[in-house]
Amino acid sequence: MFTETSKCPSCGNATFRAVLQQPDNSNYQLQFVQCAECDAVIGVLEYLNLGATLHDQTQIIKEHGSKLDRLEVALRQTNHLLGKLLSSRGAHVS
Ligand SMILES: [Zn+2]
Repeated sequence: MFTETSKCPSCGNATFRAVLQQPDNSNYQLQFVQCAECDAVIGVLEYLNLGATLHDQTQIIKEHGSKLDRLEVALRQTNHLLGKLLSSRGAHVS
């Protein structure tokens, strides 16, 4: 019968823990999923959730893009009004 409980392939234990380590020759820390009984490594996870980080940064970039769009519109309006003001005074805006 199929069971959904994960078991350590080394000792058969069914409890695990995440241990943060920086392997030799690595620039990043990683989370090792280890058997809570015998410390056998079952898997390795990224310390930072890159998917969530990418999503957050994409949102920030979109917000900055919207702000830039609004600034561009305001700058064009300002430039237009400044040009009208200066032309009414006989000056010239390039
Ligand atoms: Zn084990």
